[in-house]
Amino acid sequence: MLPLLELQQVEKTFGGICALSDISFTVNKNEIIGLIGPNGAGKTTIFNLVTGAYNISSGLILLNGKPINKKRPDQIVNLGVARTFQNIRLFKKLTVLNNVKASLYHKAKYNIFDALLKTGNYKKLEKDIDEEARILLKQMELDEYVEIQADNLAYGLQRKLEITRALGLSPELLLLDEPAAGMNPKEVINIIDLIKKVHSEYRLTIIIIEHHMKVITSLCSNVIVLNFGKKIAEGPAEEIHKNSKVIEAYLGNSTQKKKTEIAYANN
Ligand code: ATP
Repeated sequence: MLPLLELQQVEKTFGGICALSDISFTVNKNEIIGLIGPNGAGKTTIFNLVTGAYNISSGLILLNGKPINKKRPDQIVNLGVARTFQNIRLFKKLTVLNNVKASLYHKAKYNIFDALLKTGNYKKLEKDIDEEARILLKQMELDEYVEIQADNLAYGLQRKLEITRALGLSPELLLLDEPAAGMNPKEVINIIDLIKKVHSEYRLTIIIIEHHMKVITSLCSNVIVLNFGKKIAEGPAEEIHKNSKVIEAYLGNSTQKKKTEIAYANN
């Protein structure tokens, strides 16, 4: 079966600095893959390359067997790739409902005249978008917050809203950048359950960057480990932390060691 996403010997340099080198891996349809590694390992750079935010320096990125590395971010969204960000990016002054509606407008098929004249077509589409946004918010257990301004939501809820907005783009591939960052243990359990739910309901393929090992071990069938821009290991979640290269990568950095210890303690 054709993988949904394939990276072939991808390299990314910034000026003289090599952020990623010789990165190859495949992600099959409906899989949940973990992308882990110490700070600065190159995880977010991979998301930026797959979504077209950065151009690759060399190599190839294939989506459903077709190269996407020359495409613009909006074209890649239309091909079915959506993401969330490590630093949450919401329309902070809009309500929760309007944040989700904003992501649903990309598929709305009305023109400026429909909007100005408020035609029947416009009104129907507006109603459909409103309904779809509310359904998504209910699924993500955010329905009680629809009228709240986004920046008044607690941090964990803002992260959930970001995922809801990404789902509004109807992705086939969802890239989650630290979805559990800043969450308390109860919220972490909740986000794991919600990711499981949307994964099966929307038949998604997901790549997760996360420092919380509980998230990785609970959700991911396969884990890719990066260190200093190189892939140092790949394997099942329950085995990867026993890999000597992975242990060395994490223990070689005392800050990260602390972070990893905390993550395991939260398990
Ligand atoms: P973290 O866990 O801290 O988020 P990461 O694994 O996601 O780290 P990246 O953000 O991908 O790491 O960064 C990988 C390397 O690329 C780092 O050395 C970083 O400084 C560098 N880098 C990333 N983006 C840029 C950029 N726009 N310009 C220059 N260097 C960059």
